[in-house]
Amino acid sequence: MNANPPVSSIAKASGRNLVIIMVIAVSCVSCGPHQKQAATRFAQPDEILNPKHPDTLTRRHNQANVLYYKKAEYAEAEAEFRAAIKLREAVLGPQHPDTLQSRHDLARTLNIQDHLQGKSAEAEAEYRAVLKLREEVLGSRHPDTLQSRHNLAEVLNTYCWRFRGECVQACKHAEAATEFGVVAKLREEVLGAKHPDTLASRERLAYALRILKKYDESEAEYRVLCKLREEALGDRHLDTLNDRHSLALVLARQGKHAEAETEYRAVWKLRKEVRGVSSVQTLLSHCGLADALSAQGKLTEAEAEYRAVLELQKKFWGFKFSYALSCRHNLAVTLKALGKYAEAEAECRETLKLREEVLGKDHPDTLNTRELLRSIEEKKNETNPPP
Ligand SMILES: [Zn+2]
Repeated sequence: MNANPPVSSIAKASGRNLVIIMVIAVSCVSCGPHQKQAATRFAQPDEILNPKHPDTLTRRHNQANVLYYKKAEYAEAEAEFRAAIKLREAVLGPQHPDTLQSRHDLARTLNIQDHLQGKSAEAEAEYRAVLKLREEVLGSRHPDTLQSRHNLAEVLNTYCWRFRGECVQACKHAEAATEFGVVAKLREEVLGAKHPDTLASRERLAYALRILKKYDESEAEYRVLCKLREEALGDRHLDTLNDRHSLALVLARQGKHAEAETEYRAVWKLRKEVRGVSSVQTLLSHCGLADALSAQGKLTEAEAEYRAVLELQKKFWGFKFSYALSCRHNLAVTLKALGKYAEAEAECRETLKLREEVLGKDHPDTLNTRELLRSIEEKKNETNPPP
């Protein structure tokens, strides 16, 4: 943020002390300690400045961003962005870069409310409109245009949030992947391959391909991304480790379990050092490692790792997380494969009970565990028939 304007000159020029308060408030909008104060002072009546004065318009836009970023009051932020757009359209025109910035930020605000109120269609329409105008006004390679295009792809990719995370026929992941690919390429040309925005688009592309089950393409993207991220941020950075974890996941989805094991083990080790042994991220990698071992038939080793994860999970977090219940389900699978049917049954019953509570009786994962329990009981009765 720019330094505050010289207060004395403003006071002299305007002759009104309230203007000083207003200008300081506007200048301090992203300056931490003054956030709350600035937000409060924004509420001053518009009579201080002409409501159509450019500073007033900036003030309204900034106030909306304070509501969004600092207070997470999205409905209020939406109303404020709409007011800012109306004024900016009237004063600056519908194609002015500031008007388009307000519209871009409105679309972002609509999208974040999406999972609660189903505003993603509105967000999509708004991003499409802003993108078209930014292409006309700023050009298709301008960083702001690329940001709108990236965000539009994000809306397309998260369309299924509205359906409790389940993919539906109307999902738009293929279009999202295409868009992320185009933005990643343009950002590489304009900003450089290791720029955080370029890497963000590449990461979303790899993720969209993963949702589309194009695992080989996704793997290729994650491999390039991991290399770039490591060069840009180092091998211990949280983003680098997240990308490597995702790479391990797509390796496992393709049945490349030995490679997945190596990758999960490396990420687990680094996450233990960087985030601690009991962080959720560390536990996720640890569980992935156990899965990779189990899938290769290294059952005893897998059992030991599952039990270690679950002990930490129980101690620090409890079992109301879907990944933790997947881990318990997979332990039961491994115990069954080891022929430890009584232990497998106990683990499976507990997992089923928790999945019914957390996910509901008809959730696909719950049904999966119920089917596992049935098959364990069958095996148990075969080896040890009831009297
Ligand atoms: Zn979907």
